[in-house]
Amino acid sequence: MANSKIVMGIDDLPMWQSIDRQGLELQCCDDCATFRYPPAPLCPTCLSLAATWTPVAGTGTVLSWVVFHKKYFDDHLPPYNSVAVQLPEGPILISQLQGPQPEGNWIGREVALAYAEHAGRMQHHVRLADTPLGSQGADADLKKSHDA
Ligand SMILES: [Zn+2]
Repeated sequence: MANSKIVMGIDDLPMWQSIDRQGLELQCCDDCATFRYPPAPLCPTCLSLAATWTPVAGTGTVLSWVVFHKKYFDDHLPPYNSVAVQLPEGPILISQLQGPQPEGNWIGREVALAYAEHAGRMQHHVRLADTPLGSQGADADLKKSHDA
Protein backbone atom coordinates (compact mmCIF):
# COMPACT_ATOMS: atom_id res chain seq x y z
CA MET A 1 0.00 0.00 0.00
CA ALA A 2 1.21 3.51 -0.72
CA ASN A 3 0.12 7.08 -0.31
CA SER A 4 -2.30 8.60 -2.81
CA LYS A 5 -0.57 10.57 -5.55
CA ILE A 6 -1.64 13.74 -7.30
CA VAL A 7 -1.78 13.99 -11.07
CA MET A 8 0.80 16.53 -12.17
CA GLY A 9 0.46 16.76 -15.93
CA ILE A 10 1.28 19.82 -18.01
CA ASP A 11 -2.30 21.09 -17.62
CA ASP A 12 -2.52 20.41 -13.86
CA LEU A 13 0.42 22.40 -12.48
CA PRO A 14 -1.32 25.82 -12.28
CA MET A 15 -4.26 24.25 -10.41
CA TRP A 16 -1.96 22.68 -7.81
CA GLN A 17 -0.07 25.97 -7.49
CA SER A 18 -3.39 27.72 -6.76
CA ILE A 19 -4.19 25.08 -4.14
CA ASP A 20 -0.77 25.74 -2.58
CA ARG A 21 -1.87 29.43 -2.34
CA GLN A 22 -5.19 28.23 -0.79
CA GLY A 23 -7.29 29.78 -3.54
CA LEU A 24 -8.45 27.20 -6.10
CA GLU A 25 -8.26 28.40 -9.68
CA LEU A 26 -9.69 26.54 -12.67
CA GLN A 27 -9.32 27.12 -16.38
CA CYS A 28 -12.07 29.34 -17.80
CA CYS A 29 -12.47 29.26 -21.57
CA ASP A 30 -11.56 32.61 -23.17
CA ASP A 31 -14.09 32.01 -25.95
CA CYS A 32 -17.22 30.62 -24.24
CA ALA A 33 -16.55 31.12 -20.47
CA THR A 34 -16.95 27.41 -19.64
CA PHE A 35 -14.90 26.33 -16.62
CA ARG A 36 -12.85 23.14 -17.00
CA TYR A 37 -12.27 20.52 -14.33
CA PRO A 38 -10.22 18.44 -14.33
CA PRO A 39 -7.71 20.63 -16.15
CA ALA A 40 -7.58 19.94 -19.87
CA PRO A 41 -5.78 21.29 -22.95
CA LEU A 42 -9.01 22.34 -24.68
CA CYS A 43 -12.53 23.43 -23.87
CA PRO A 44 -15.05 20.54 -23.77
CA THR A 45 -17.77 22.91 -25.01
CA CYS A 46 -16.21 24.81 -27.93
CA LEU A 47 -12.79 23.09 -28.34
CA SER A 48 -10.95 26.37 -27.88
CA LEU A 49 -7.35 26.11 -26.66
CA ALA A 50 -7.53 29.53 -24.98
CA ALA A 51 -8.22 29.70 -21.25
CA THR A 52 -7.44 31.83 -18.25
CA TRP A 53 -6.83 30.44 -14.77
CA THR A 54 -9.65 31.98 -12.76
CA PRO A 55 -10.39 31.83 -9.01
CA VAL A 56 -13.59 29.99 -8.08
CA ALA A 57 -16.02 31.34 -5.50
CA GLY A 58 -15.14 28.61 -3.01
CA THR A 59 -18.72 27.47 -2.47
CA GLY A 60 -20.71 24.50 -3.72
CA THR A 61 -23.47 21.97 -3.17
CA VAL A 62 -23.01 18.27 -2.40
CA LEU A 63 -24.27 16.17 -5.34
CA SER A 64 -23.20 12.80 -3.98
CA TRP A 65 -21.00 11.23 -1.35
CA VAL A 66 -19.55 7.91 -0.28
CA VAL A 67 -17.82 6.69 2.87
CA PHE A 68 -14.97 4.23 2.31
CA HIS A 69 -14.50 1.58 4.96
CA LYS A 70 -11.63 -0.16 3.16
CA LYS A 71 -8.04 1.07 3.16
CA TYR A 72 -6.87 1.89 -0.36
CA PHE A 73 -4.06 4.31 0.53
CA ASP A 74 -1.77 4.67 3.53
CA ASP A 75 -2.61 8.38 3.82
CA HIS A 76 -6.42 7.83 3.88
CA LEU A 77 -7.30 5.63 6.80
CA PRO A 78 -10.87 4.37 6.84
CA PRO A 79 -13.48 5.44 7.39
CA TYR A 80 -13.11 8.48 5.13
CA ASN A 81 -15.47 10.10 2.70
CA SER A 82 -15.38 11.45 -0.82
CA VAL A 83 -17.89 14.03 -2.01
CA ALA A 84 -18.91 15.29 -5.44
CA VAL A 85 -19.52 19.03 -5.16
CA GLN A 86 -21.35 21.10 -7.78
CA LEU A 87 -19.47 24.38 -8.06
CA PRO A 88 -21.47 27.49 -9.03
CA GLU A 89 -19.00 27.89 -11.92
CA GLY A 90 -20.22 24.58 -13.41
CA PRO A 91 -17.64 21.85 -12.77
CA ILE A 92 -18.17 19.00 -10.30
CA LEU A 93 -15.27 18.93 -7.86
CA ILE A 94 -14.28 15.71 -6.10
CA SER A 95 -13.18 16.46 -2.57
CA GLN A 96 -13.53 15.33 1.03
CA LEU A 97 -15.96 16.66 3.62
CA GLN A 98 -14.11 17.44 6.83
CA GLY A 99 -15.41 18.74 10.12
CA PRO A 100 -18.92 18.11 11.40
CA GLN A 101 -20.97 15.88 9.11
CA PRO A 102 -24.67 16.26 8.40
CA GLU A 103 -27.18 13.82 9.81
CA GLY A 104 -28.89 11.72 7.15
CA ASN A 105 -28.65 12.68 3.51
CA TRP A 106 -25.70 14.90 2.54
CA ILE A 107 -27.07 15.68 -0.93
CA GLY A 108 -27.97 19.33 -1.33
CA ARG A 109 -25.90 20.54 1.62
CA GLU A 110 -24.04 23.79 1.00
CA VAL A 111 -20.28 23.54 1.48
CA ALA A 112 -17.28 25.86 1.43
CA LEU A 113 -13.80 25.10 0.16
CA ALA A 114 -11.02 24.93 2.71
CA TYR A 115 -7.38 23.93 2.60
CA ALA A 116 -5.03 21.94 4.78
CA GLU A 117 -1.74 20.14 4.42
CA HIS A 118 -2.14 16.42 3.78
CA ALA A 119 0.67 13.93 3.09
CA GLY A 120 3.20 16.69 2.64
CA ARG A 121 1.30 19.03 0.34
CA MET A 122 -1.61 21.43 0.43
CA GLN A 123 -4.94 19.85 -0.48
CA HIS A 124 -8.47 21.20 -0.73
CA HIS A 125 -11.41 19.82 1.18
CA VAL A 126 -14.89 21.11 1.93
CA ARG A 127 -16.71 21.91 5.14
CA LEU A 128 -20.40 22.48 5.71
CA ALA A 129 -21.05 26.10 4.84
CA ASP A 130 -22.50 26.81 8.27
CA THR A 131 -19.38 25.39 9.98
CA PRO A 132 -16.97 28.11 11.09
CA LEU A 133 -13.59 27.93 9.37
CA GLY A 134 -10.93 26.97 11.83
CA SER A 135 -13.27 24.55 13.59
CA GLN A 136 -11.04 21.71 14.73
CA GLY A 137 -11.60 18.05 15.30
CA ALA A 138 -12.42 17.00 11.74
CA ASP A 139 -10.85 13.57 12.03
CA ALA A 140 -12.35 13.00 15.47
CA ASP A 141 -15.81 13.99 14.19
CA LEU A 142 -15.46 11.66 11.19
CA LYS A 143 -14.33 8.69 13.28
CA LYS A 144 -16.98 9.26 15.94
CA SER A 145 -19.83 9.38 13.42
CA HIS A 146 -18.85 6.06 11.82
CA ASP A 147 -17.91 4.15 14.93
CA ALA A 148 -21.36 4.54 16.43
ZN1 LIG B 1 -15.12 27.18 -24.72
